[in-house]
Amino acid sequence: MPLVNAAEMLTKAKQGHYAVGQFNINNLEWTKAILLTAQELNSPVILGVSEGAGKYMTGYKTVVGMVNGMLEELNITVPVALHLDHGSYEGAKKCIEAGFSSIMFDGSHYPIEENIEKTKELVAICKEKGLSIEAEVGSIGGEEDGVIGKGECADPQECKQIADLGVTMLAAGIGNIHGKYPENWEGLSFETLDAIQQLTGDMPLVLHGGTGIPADMIKKAISLGVSKINVNTECQLAFQEATRKYIEEGKDLQGKGFDPRKLLAPGFEAIKATVKEKMELFGSVGKA
Ligand SMILES: [Zn+2]
Repeated sequence: MPLVNAAEMLTKAKQGHYAVGQFNINNLEWTKAILLTAQELNSPVILGVSEGAGKYMTGYKTVVGMVNGMLEELNITVPVALHLDHGSYEGAKKCIEAGFSSIMFDGSHYPIEENIEKTKELVAICKEKGLSIEAEVGSIGGEEDGVIGKGECADPQECKQIADLGVTMLAAGIGNIHGKYPENWEGLSFETLDAIQQLTGDMPLVLHGGTGIPADMIKKAISLGVSKINVNTECQLAFQEATRKYIEEGKDLQGKGFDPRKLLAPGFEAIKATVKEKMELFGSVGKA
């Protein structure tokens, strides 16, 4: 099945009280692991690409070519969206051009008026081309590609202003952060999330920084309207741990253990296991 935008899968998720995972990709192994797991579990899935990862993979056209090729060669039949993560205004336009099916425009660092202006313009382009679009209000803490946020809570009124522009989904800071959570993290602000949902109604809400949020908080967030959860660091840590183990056990020194297809296999399996665990937690298994 060709790429789809994220609108239908997220509307269904919101109605069905589950969430679709966005898993960020870095290379072929990541992409293949996520697509195969989604297919095995009959789950919809969103492939996230940060601008940094896009550059790493040599550009958005390469990403689109690789993903489209895999959808066909692996016979993927579950709904898959290819989504720009934390896009700049220019990056968003490039991805639209390259063939992504969904974009995020992160205008959270602009004053709200400018965020609204730019979001509005991109909403119009996405509508015309059939893409879904995610906007962000209130920056999300931690570091993403060098952009550092404080983990603030979004203003629910500003969320409503942005939601009313016709975006498909809305990311709002509710105390969540990117990367590993510090020991003294205060947890998600369900009060903020509830207030946002009250004002934005059916709008699917997005939870960034899904790595390390306890399962009970994830479930509560879904019950309060979160329909998309972004997972990035957790797959990286799983890959790193499995690869380290392989090398520390000296397996790369045995036989043809140096072959990259063998060397990267444990990390690949570890990503698959992580994605499976998340899809089960989010409730998206069997919802394709
Ligand atoms: Zn994020």
